[in-house]
Amino acid sequence: MKIAVLALQGAFIEHERALASLGVSCTEIRRRADLTDALDGVILPGGESTVQGKLLREEGLLAPLKEAIEGGLPVFGTCAGMILLAKNLTNDPNRYLGTMDISVRRNAYGRQLGSFRAETEVKGVGNFPAVFIRAPYVEEVGSAEPLAMVGGKIVAARQGHMLATAFHPELTDDLRLHAYFSDMIRGRA
Ligand code: GLN
Repeated sequence: MKIAVLALQGAFIEHERALASLGVSCTEIRRRADLTDALDGVILPGGESTVQGKLLREEGLLAPLKEAIEGGLPVFGTCAGMILLAKNLTNDPNRYLGTMDISVRRNAYGRQLGSFRAETEVKGVGNFPAVFIRAPYVEEVGSAEPLAMVGGKIVAARQGHMLATAFHPELTDDLRLHAYFSDMIRGRA
């Protein structure tokens, strides 16, 4: 199994480390040619969605990546990655890949809660130490399934082969969400 991490901006190295710790081979997507048929899954890291969206467009990656995900390529978006996946952003006119039926609010926790940790029960994974950094949350799930809540807000969701978290599992030593994603790819989760 080979998982690619979108490596245009943000916390992509941390995802690569998590995959390496799990013994999953990984590669980076930086340009159009990196998006090949040999990939079993893609991770969209946290960072700044506006910057990532701009670079995706400039590299000619936005449309082919969208097409690949629509064609069934498993994807896991964390934080900014969740924003890239969302069909709708409730407080931002931008839209990027728009493949996942979720409405997402950017920078949803305001300034005081810019960055925080919270324990959350993730369906199919268990209790998880969630790290939030200027995080979004999901306001509406549409046909996606909510997987975790914090303070009454949805912070993780899944829709078939698409998984998204508002928090950063790659910034903890807990590999269970990456393991869950690889189980998704294998058809075991
Ligand atoms: N605030 C960022 C955005 O709107 C997301 C933050 C993150 O990925 N940690 O894109």
